[in-house]
This record gives sequence, structure tokens and C-alpha cells, in this order.
Amino acid sequence: MNFESRMLIDGELVEAEAGRTYNNINPATEEVIGVVADASPGDMQRAIAAARRAFNESPWATDRELRKRCLLQLQTALANTREDLRPQIVAEVGTPIALTFAIQQDSCIDDMTWDIDVIDRYEWERELGVHEFFGLTSNRLVVKEPIGVVGAITPWNFPFMLNLSKIVPALAAGCTVVLKPAPDTPYSATWIGKMIAEHTDFPAGVINVVTASDPAEVAEMLTTSPDVDMISFTGSSVVGKRITEVTSATLKRVFLELGGKSANIVLDDADFPAVLSSASMVCMHSGQGCAITTRLLLPRSRYDEGVAIIKESFEKFGYGDPNDFANMAGPLINAKQRERVLGYIEKGQAEGAKCVVGGGPATQFDKGYFVQPTLFIDVDPDSTIAQEEIFGPVLAVIPYDDDDDAVRIANNSRYGLSGAVNSGSLDRALSVARRIRTGTIAVNGGQWFGPDSPFGGYRESGTGREHGIAGFEEYLETKTIGLPG
Ligand code: NAD
Repeated sequence: MNFESRMLIDGELVEAEAGRTYNNINPATEEVIGVVADASPGDMQRAIAAARRAFNESPWATDRELRKRCLLQLQTALANTREDLRPQIVAEVGTPIALTFAIQQDSCIDDMTWDIDVIDRYEWERELGVHEFFGLTSNRLVVKEPIGVVGAITPWNFPFMLNLSKIVPALAAGCTVVLKPAPDTPYSATWIGKMIAEHTDFPAGVINVVTASDPAEVAEMLTTSPDVDMISFTGSSVVGKRITEVTSATLKRVFLELGGKSANIVLDDADFPAVLSSASMVCMHSGQGCAITTRLLLPRSRYDEGVAIIKESFEKFGYGDPNDFANMAGPLINAKQRERVLGYIEKGQAEGAKCVVGGGPATQFDKGYFVQPTLFIDVDPDSTIAQEEIFGPVLAVIPYDDDDDAVRIANNSRYGLSGAVNSGSLDRALSVARRIRTGTIAVNGGQWFGPDSPFGGYRESGTGREHGIAGFEEYLETKTIGLPG
């Protein structure tokens, strides 16, 4: 496999200090795919210093034509090498290969166009006109400027997509970046570094990629450094809270995309076979998606009918070898995550929910971190498996009495990232959707995802938005200039 084991620091593809490396493990086979640089604090310090220097001294922050050219070169290089990258993503993430033709790889390369076009479309300056203040008339010019050096920290579940979702708008805005990917998925980031070094005119230091085996040690240098102006983070709410705490010392901007426990509300007039026969798709990518609707709310009046359809869907769900196009789920990312998910399944049973499909490790595979698609019914909305993010192939079905009860249960969560409502009436579904405290929601099968759709969460699902103009503006500062009127 044609992977890149080196980091990108200050325009060069480099080994870690003292040549330190760590193994990148394939979660489906438990075999070593290859090695990758294991950064020291000194490596991270060099990357931060390079990004700072590039922001202060290179033309990047002010030259929009240069930014457009470099980002288009990167997009072309990624598009031209997508068949080199695809097997790397499948191997290190354990994602079903089918997903790499969409959100895990191809669609995010195509979606770069939206952020690159924004460079031309965005209103960078705006005159407010004349205003009188203390007897003086003045004009005001409002100027948008890049915020500075961005530390981008990403998780392992959709690593390539999330790397691009952060670095492309940040770079388009004129920021410089240090990208720190998750330890489990380094090649989805080092490939981007390789393409930048070998196929683009990015000035040295504008974008740096630093890989490390320890999840927190070098990453915390980004969150504490006074030379970093902003942290753009996707990951768990626990780490999001830690970042909020440690960044307070330097008061840098923090943008957080965190966990979820989203509800799919099926109303009593919905077409049950149409809506529920694909219910097992919550197990796609083994449930390792923050926006997956992991709670399914069914009306008591049609509960048994709904459960029967969902159960059949779970029993038919194809999972296993991620390179097989028939499978929509592979393994979990690592042994620790598998144990964590199995722990939640045990807890669900101990707290009285009824497990009707799955419920344990997938023992038909000799190797790999596989867990059976698992369906719980009669789940208490306050129980652990209805409240905590499991990040595995587990669905909790919860009965409700009427629409108000469904809304109350859906909002009974510390998260608010996504959701769905299905009804025979679009108006009824939409009015329920408006009552859910969540950043995104699908009504009657409508998809909210797109390069121009703001994505993010309410409450403990995060702060700020990724994608769209709202996402682009996360990376900008606002300067107001007073001019003689
Ligand atoms: P994680 O929070 O453990 O790690 C995410 C990243 O943070 C990794 O790169 C890790 O090395 C780094 N990190 C860990 N400790 C750190 C620290 N103290 N300071 C700075 N960085 C640190 O999450 P994960 O296990 O990699 O991913 C799963 C989580 O991500 C789930 O909770 C999931 O919901 C969430 N997620 C959210 C979204 C979203 O857009 N809302 C998308 C994907 C995943």
C-alpha cells in the first residue's frame, strides 16, 4: 500500500525527532498496515512556530488568488490519487469500502469546490455608511480577516472528511494550520501532507500535519500555546470539555463538534414499512457516527408492529469484511472501543432493556474488533443506553404515548446534534421537528448534509458550526475601521 509515514512540518515531509515511529493497525485484521512518525513535543513546537511564521510573514493571509490556486492544486492532487488513498482509508478506519465513494472520501474531495468558491463570493469588506457620534460624522468599514493560526484536532471515525472539513475553510479564510489527526488514523492526514508537499505551491508552514501515538500529549501543546489563535476540534464531549478548560488561559477561540444521542421520532401516521425497514442503517460503519439516530421513538399504539419490522431489518444487516461491497459495517476502531461498546450492552441488559437481536462480540470472525448489530427494545428513556453515546452498532427503541411525550423524550438528552421525524403529514412532522433542541434534523427522509449546510450541535454536542457560510466565518475575525464621514 502506497501510504505516507512522514509528517509535514514547515513545508518538508519529515520523520519525527530521533526517528520515532508507531504502528498503524488495521482494525479488521489486527495486522500492522505500516508505521508512521510519532511526534515529540519538539516536533509539535516546530510545527506551531512554522504556522505562526507563515501567518505573520508569508502572503497567505492577504493573497486570495494564491489561496485559491493552492487549494485547487490540492483538490486536483487528491482527486488524481483517490485510488491510492481509498485502500488506506478502508485499512486504517475499517470503514465499509462503499462509504469511500461518498462521505469517507470522494464526496469530500468534490465538496472542496464550495469552500474554494467562497473565496471569490464572500463579502470581505462592507461599508456601513455615515453615522453621527459625539457631533462627529464618520463612515465605518467592516473588514473580515483570518483569525490566525488554527490547531485542527480530529477523530478517527470519518478522518479524511473531517480533516478536510477543518483545513479547507481555515485555509480558504487565510489562516495557517497545524492538523493533529487521531492516533488510529494517521494516513488519512499524512496523505494530504504528501499531496501538499509534492503537488502544490503552499508557502512553507501554511499547513502542517503532526501525527502522534499519544492522544493528548502533543495535542495539548496546541490548546495551550499562545501562538495558536483557535482550536477547531471534533471528538468526544469529554475531551471537548477539557479543551474548553485549558484554552481559557489564552482565551483562544474554540470551535467544538462533539458527541450525540439523536432521536428518530416515528409518528403514529407514518408509513411504517417504508420508514422502518432500513432501521438497521444506524449500524452503518458499526454505529461510529456522531449524528446517527441511536434512539428510535415508537408510538405505543403501533409499537409491536414497528418492533417486528425493525427486528427483521437488524437480522438482515450485512457486516464483516470492510472490503466487501455487500457490507455496510466493518469492525470497531480498536479493542478499547469494542470493550467500551460491549460494556454498554451489558449495562443495557442489567438495567432492564430487552435485547432482541445481537448483544455480544461477533465471534464468527477470527480477528478484528467486530460487535454484533444489537437491538434493544422497551428502553427506559432515563437509562444509561438511552442517555450516553455508545458509538457502536446499538439501537435503543423507546415507546411513547403521544406527540408531546415524544418531544419530551427526544429533548431528554444532554446532547443535541441531529435527529429525524417521520409522519404521513409533512406539516405535522415539521412542527414536531421545530420543537426538537438539535442542530440538524431530517424530516420525512430529507437529508440535511451538504457543503453549504451548517452542521453542529446544541448543548453538550458542541459550540459553533462546520460547513456553509457559518462554518467559514468560524475562521474569521471582524475589524471595524472608522473613516472620516
Ligand atoms: P476523542 O475525543 O477521544 O479524540 C479526538 C481527538 O482529540 C484525537 O485526535 C485525540 O488525539 C485528541 N485528543 C485527545 N485528548 C486530547 C486533549 N486532552 N487535548 C487535545 N486533543 C486531545 O474522540 P475519538 O474517540 O477520536 O472520536 C469519537 C468521538 O468523536 C465521539 O464522541 C463522537 O461523537 C465524536 N465525533 C463528533 C463529530 C461531530 O461532528 N460532532 C464527528 C465525529 C466524531
